[in-house]
Amino acid sequence: MQLLNYLCGEWVAGKGPGTLLYNPVTGAEIARAGSEGLDLAAALQFGRERGGPALRALSYAERANRLHAIADALSAQRDKYYQIALENSGNTKTDAALDIDGGIGTLKYYAGLGKQLGEARYLAEPGLERLARDEAFQGAHILTPIQGIAVHINAFNFPSWGLWEKAAVALLSGVPVFAKPATATALLSYEMVRDVIAADILPAGALSLICGGGRELMDLVTAQDAVAFTGSADTAASLRAHPNVIRSNVRFNVEADSLNSALLGPDAAPDSPEFQLFIKEVVREMSVKAGQKCTAIRRILVPAALQSKVEEALREGLAGVAVGDPRNERVRMGPLVTRSQQQAAWEGIERLKTEAAVVCGGERAFELVDADPARGYFVPPTLLRCADPSSSRVVHEVEVFGPVATVMPYADAEQAFALAARGGGSLVTSVFTGDGDFAIRAAVAIAPTHGRVLVVDKSIGGSHTGHGVVMPHCIHGGPGRAGGGEELGGLRALRFYHQRSAIQASAGCLKRLQETATVLVS
Ligand code: NAP
Repeated sequence: MQLLNYLCGEWVAGKGPGTLLYNPVTGAEIARAGSEGLDLAAALQFGRERGGPALRALSYAERANRLHAIADALSAQRDKYYQIALENSGNTKTDAALDIDGGIGTLKYYAGLGKQLGEARYLAEPGLERLARDEAFQGAHILTPIQGIAVHINAFNFPSWGLWEKAAVALLSGVPVFAKPATATALLSYEMVRDVIAADILPAGALSLICGGGRELMDLVTAQDAVAFTGSADTAASLRAHPNVIRSNVRFNVEADSLNSALLGPDAAPDSPEFQLFIKEVVREMSVKAGQKCTAIRRILVPAALQSKVEEALREGLAGVAVGDPRNERVRMGPLVTRSQQQAAWEGIERLKTEAAVVCGGERAFELVDADPARGYFVPPTLLRCADPSSSRVVHEVEVFGPVATVMPYADAEQAFALAARGGGSLVTSVFTGDGDFAIRAAVAIAPTHGRVLVVDKSIGGSHTGHGVVMPHCIHGGPGRAGGGEELGGLRALRFYHQRSAIQASAGCLKRLQETATVLVS
């Protein structure tokens, strides 16, 4: 099967041999993708010239309706997408739901928010700024959609959610989208975009797609475009430092890798509900999507006195995770997505072993359900222990993108907070404690180096959405190593696709300007 590219309103094949896509359970070839030899400059220009004006002619509410229609078109094909997630990503049903239903849910969420923005075509901040003694002269701030195209470069682990969480915000803002999913898992993005285009929901040029290639994109972006990148810190650094990106000051958002942690509070004894919730969450985070989530827990911070109890409980929990072909109902964890990811995970485990001892897993020979270890890209759940995390380095720096995490004992709260910060800037830390004072201290101490902090006590044991699940209502991103970016967070996300301008004029003029805008509440 050859994946096509959707450029200038047409489905076209790349000219070269392209890149092969595989089934990670069997190693079988399933498709080929490439965009070599295609005129990406013309495609970007088509989006800017045709898609942008057509989208901006619509109000926020009208664009929101289009998002809703996209979500409906996708919902109608859910079964097909689950099958693709199984074949191209080795997803269990739970894994696939996170990606597919997460994408559709985010579209619906932004459709709902967009309807509230009403019939306006630009946004305004509330209030006026008095600039002179004469009250007649004042200032206001408005936000207008940028006039370029949104280039969305995504990682392999969320071919649906990554595509739609970015596209929803750009399209609602009135900005056309040029999507570049990661090649290895592009089949799902491809089928979804095909279905959306076939449903004829968006104006021409509002949504373009390349499957494979795209190495020249940074040469082609302009000052009115916006690039949103998700992937490894290394790729992010090279794209963000591209001379054209720097020279043109192209808007650039990065979601990169992260060594997230889970912190068990000093109060959480083994018989406490918080201890049980902690164990459940760590096991879930290590096994869902085979640990291939940017938000997955990599470092497990525990009071030194509870270390052996935690290891015992985690070993037991992980022993219950059957690994193999997700077609078998018993299987709770599938393979990594590619052969090179599997190799990188084994190399990473070896590097962690220079500072940590294996508690369980970590061996190439392990039990697989209905799968051949020589063909599939499997790695067992692997728990390590680092006895002296404060003077270690590798365990805070090497992100093994698989079902791998390291237990780290801490002596007191200050050491625990310092260890969380050793990730160099992370997406999320979750704190499990029944001590209200410790919860506040931890949240405030951890926040400066994290984009999100989840605090769990028994009152939300059954209702919290999880350490690794990104909710569109809250921001997603993190400082430093995590990329320094910010996505989602309700209406906050729209700012990336709008230019904020100060308008200085008479109070009467500004009042009229605000009356024709949607005034943001905050
Ligand atoms: P990657 O190798 O950096 O690739 C990410 C994307 O960049 C892919 O679409 C890739 O395309 C593309 N790309 C690579 N070089 C490019 C170039 N020169 N020009 C244009 N595009 C280029 O990352 P990955 O291995 O797919 O993803 C795993 C990493 O992503 C992990 O470290 C994980 O932590 C991180 N991640 C972060 C988040 C987050 O939200 N913070 C979410 C998911 C994953 P090809 O596929 O064609 O090479």
